[in-house]
Amino acid sequence: MKIAVAIDGPAAAGKSTIAKKVALMRGFTYIDTGAMYRAFTWYCLEKGVDCQDEKACVSLIPEVNIELKPNGIVLCNGVDISKPIRGTDVSSNVSYIASYKDIRLALVKLQRKMAEKDSVIMDGRDIGTYVLPNAEVKIFQVASVETRAKRRYLENQEKGISCTYEQIFEDVQRRDHIDSTRAFSPLKKAEDAVYLDTSDLSIDEVVAIVNGIIDKKLEEIK
Ligand code: C5P
Repeated sequence: MKIAVAIDGPAAAGKSTIAKKVALMRGFTYIDTGAMYRAFTWYCLEKGVDCQDEKACVSLIPEVNIELKPNGIVLCNGVDISKPIRGTDVSSNVSYIASYKDIRLALVKLQRKMAEKDSVIMDGRDIGTYVLPNAEVKIFQVASVETRAKRRYLENQEKGISCTYEQIFEDVQRRDHIDSTRAFSPLKKAEDAVYLDTSDLSIDEVVAIVNGIIDKKLEEIK
């Protein structure tokens, strides 16, 4: 049976960690929509375009080709940008890019297409509310801002991405504010999403909860 799982929530809530694990366990395709907004942002920065200049950024849509490979590699016009899209330059500009309706519409079209064929687990901000409103399972994954900043800081250290804890803390707060107050398709819990606070849970505990929610749904629709 083909199903879609939507995991939304604020920045650095651990959505991709959980989504990747669950996808691997169940043979679902994992789709990291944040990586697509990051890739677009990377391209604007490469071109020297000001990310707060909506018109200039939107004009680049026809020349940006983003691909997510099954092994997690992110390509922009054939260039592997998997590492630079996690850096501080991209992180501090991505929420401007993600607030532009035309860019969202172009990327949402790709996201929906990617979800057509196989069972997917897609993470982002507006998957349950806008991208896949009919997703069989919807989860809204949150954690306190301190927990999220600490987790992301440790993750960046492991990956060799240079940053300070304070930078991450501010970035997470700023992105949450822009993401939840933008006019088009803001970060919001879908009415039918399960609210999951992971502040005091381990990765394995969250994976078990998400798997339990999926199992229950599969049983219901069998
Ligand atoms: O998930 P991640 O933190 O990598 O996403 C980076 C940024 O992309 C978010 O802060 C948000 O601005 C944007 N985003 C979005 N909608 C999505 C996924 C990400 O607006 N579905």
